[in-house]
Amino acid sequence: MIYGALNIKEMPAELFLVNLGGSSIIGLLGFVFACANIKCPECGAKWFWLAVSEKGFRKWLFWLISLEVCPDCGEPKNDSFEST
Ligand SMILES: [Zn+2]
Repeated sequence: MIYGALNIKEMPAELFLVNLGGSSIIGLLGFVFACANIKCPECGAKWFWLAVSEKGFRKWLFWLISLEVCPDCGEPKNDSFEST
């Protein structure tokens, strides 16, 4: 038990910072982009954010893909994903 606690203390902070400042920035930008753009064209409800925050980490993608109408206003989602 003491051994485990020591291991956590010795975990290098640099490694965490490198991960934070490196590839995950791209992931973060993608996440922000998705949050801002995957939304209802009618009422502006943020579907991506709704999916991630309310459906949980393991179910959000399935929920988002199977989404047919806006959970807020009932607008069909057809157009929003096709426009590039
Ligand atoms: Zn809506």
